[in-house]
Amino acid sequence: MHPTYPHLFQPLDLGFTTLKNRAIMGSMHTGLEEHKDDLKALAAYFAERARGGIGLMVTGGIAPNRQGWLAPFGAKLSARSEVARHRNVTSAVHAEDSKICMQILHAGRYGMHPMLVAPSPVRAHISPFRPWEMSGRLVKATINDFGTCAALAREAGYDGVEIMGSEGYLINQFIAPRTNKRTDDWGGSFENRIRFPLEIMRRVREKAGKDFIVIFRVSMLDLVEDGSSWEEVEQLALALEAAGASILNTGIGWHEARIPTIATMVPRGAYAWVTQRLMGKIHIPLITTNRINTPEKAEEILRDGFADMVSMARPLLADPHFMRKAQENRGNEINTCIACNQACLDHIFKRKDATCLVNPRACKENDPEAKPVVRENGPAKIAVVGAGPAGLSASTELAALGHEVHLFEAADQIGGQFNMAKRIPGKAEFQETLRYFGKMIEKNGVHLHLNTRVNADFLISQNFNEVVIATGVSPRTPLIEGIEHPKVVSYLDVLLNNRPVGKKVAVIGAGGIGFDVSIFLTDDSVPGETDKQLIEDYREEWGIDPNYQNRGGLMPPVKEHVPRELWLLQRSKGKVGDRLGKTTGWAHRLTLKNRGVRMWSEVHYEKIDDAGLHITVKGQPQVLDVDTIVVCAGQNSMRDLYEPLQAAGIPVHLIGGAKEAGELDAKRAIEEGWKLAMVAGVLARN
Ligand code: FAD
Ligand code: NAP
Ligand code: SF4
Repeated sequence: MHPTYPHLFQPLDLGFTTLKNRAIMGSMHTGLEEHKDDLKALAAYFAERARGGIGLMVTGGIAPNRQGWLAPFGAKLSARSEVARHRNVTSAVHAEDSKICMQILHAGRYGMHPMLVAPSPVRAHISPFRPWEMSGRLVKATINDFGTCAALAREAGYDGVEIMGSEGYLINQFIAPRTNKRTDDWGGSFENRIRFPLEIMRRVREKAGKDFIVIFRVSMLDLVEDGSSWEEVEQLALALEAAGASILNTGIGWHEARIPTIATMVPRGAYAWVTQRLMGKIHIPLITTNRINTPEKAEEILRDGFADMVSMARPLLADPHFMRKAQENRGNEINTCIACNQACLDHIFKRKDATCLVNPRACKENDPEAKPVVRENGPAKIAVVGAGPAGLSASTELAALGHEVHLFEAADQIGGQFNMAKRIPGKAEFQETLRYFGKMIEKNGVHLHLNTRVNADFLISQNFNEVVIATGVSPRTPLIEGIEHPKVVSYLDVLLNNRPVGKKVAVIGAGGIGFDVSIFLTDDSVPGETDKQLIEDYREEWGIDPNYQNRGGLMPPVKEHVPRELWLLQRSKGKVGDRLGKTTGWAHRLTLKNRGVRMWSEVHYEKIDDAGLHITVKGQPQVLDVDTIVVCAGQNSMRDLYEPLQAAGIPVHLIGGAKEAGELDAKRAIEEGWKLAMVAGVLARN
């Protein structure tokens, strides 16, 4: 029995096979499934995670036929000719003593192509296409395609399949009255609506055999109107068990739901209560999911009987060795997923391969450029100036390669701007990245010099072989008449220096920081709440009913007390915050809208005086009689050290904000630090 995580590391006997622990790497689309080659990148990606100790993994969604594609020419397994490439994946995983299931996903009306089909021709508001209604014949053929796909997956060496029955995809569309308007045998009564999933379950079992893992992902909480009722979820689960499912996984929320279900503002373990409602009612193992990102949370959920297994997808993208580190009681070395979605889901929406903000190696396991270059003339003495995300990443990676690294930081703590980000309600996870880097500094032997603002003369005098400038940015002060007025403060004053802010506030600039500051200033929560309280607050804010009285589990949101009146302003045209991340921007906008924040675009700033902020909005003059004006108008690079060092002939590198302030975010900062370390030897020779 594991001394710290006895439940997490308890094996699970499925009768015909045993899983070595209770964690599963949940299905997550990475884009590697779509590579038109022999799937070597996907194989390397899963092999790395298998080496990291996970018991079972599930691939991203693979369609059982062309109509089921998520996007044109998406991943599909419907013919024997497509089997061989998958064997590269399964054999790589088995060589590392782990198991892998292939997810079968039919997108239904969520398909981003004109051939999309659905039980009824009802368009999703998030899709540009109206689906074709499936004929009875096509329904039967599709059931068959699921069976064939499962049989081919078995032939390819997979240990099982997961049937995707949630998140609003085709199977879910049959189950819920919201999207199933049919009047034949496949629609109308509940019995008719669940005929499709049950026939699929039976056909898959029949075609793939008894000794094959079949996970069915049930939508246990649709979070949309006219979704399933709890009674229906329970009956479906029982029927799926009877139809031959080995394990049931929990699906939360349709993609079109207007409630964030995995973003960073969702508290850890916020949906385990849903799975718990089914515990004891069925006799096959239940997996719970969403925002479980530490071994402690996973253990707690299992210990308290919320589920038999936990699913973690993004946490294993962030750290492939999550499970091994936990097993070896090195939990503080885990690079924790901060649920930002910036490099995983946001990439997928742009049809780019996923990677991870905190782990830029993710999905590049097979990429020769992601391997370090050995420096020809041995380890170097390197100075890294600035311990923000860029400097932290560069210094810890360089030290891991054996260089003598000195990290200089002007402040009394590491983290740079992350020390502001972590104060934003719902962004406390950012502290985990600083904890991780702190541990890596110690482990890799970086010489850390806090409270040390360095200048060029000092750096030149210390005989460094190379210097890395990661000094970040300083806030931009816009040229507005009266900008020196005492009402005006910068986001630094608010988030770092705790400057008092009045009851009526205007925020200039609606980028990521303008939004974060607005959330910070309109939030009324008390710091130090327990996870249980955070979950209750979150359910109330977003209208999630723990008693499940209505279909879909929705209830009217509880109105929050908002401590300030706030205007969030931008000069450009269009939706305010249009450039925020695709998968999280809408939730930030909705949060502020629900708090009564006025978000205005096409604003021209005229002047600031005792009367307030004088603006014109779409040509109309106005004065905002506010107590405080917070400037969040972007930043300028801080790179004064660069030129003197270059002039002194020292090889010098710029990364993160110091390199370029425009389009800067932590994803770029961390990636540039890492990339520099990978090629440091080459740069030194040049
Ligand atoms: P910085 O973080 O600015 O770090 C530079 C460091 O250098 C500082 O610690 C500074 O003290 C030090 N330094 C400067 N000069 C010297 C010197 N001469 N000697 C020694 N030390 C020196 N990004 C995202 O991707 N996602 C988010 O959700 C997100 N949220 C944010 C929320 C807020 C409120 C803020 C303020 C920023 C947020 N960011 C976010 C932006 C992100 O934090 C920055 O892009 C990132 O920190 C830039 O990293 P950096 O290392 O280049 O610079
Ligand atoms: P930003 O995203 O570039 O936004 C700056 C804002 O200031 C824009 O709204 C800009 O838009 C306005 N602005 C620029 N110059 C101005 C001027 N001279 N006068 C008045 N307004 C001006 O930068 P940021 O908000 O400072 O964020 C910095 C980085 O951190 C960004 O890359 C951001 O992505 C990242 N970040 C991300 C998140 C996240 O949740 N993902 C959160 C925080 C920060 P207009 O010109 O239209 O007014
Ligand atoms: Fe987690 Fe962000 Fe990495 Fe995605 S990009 S895995 S959400 S840390």
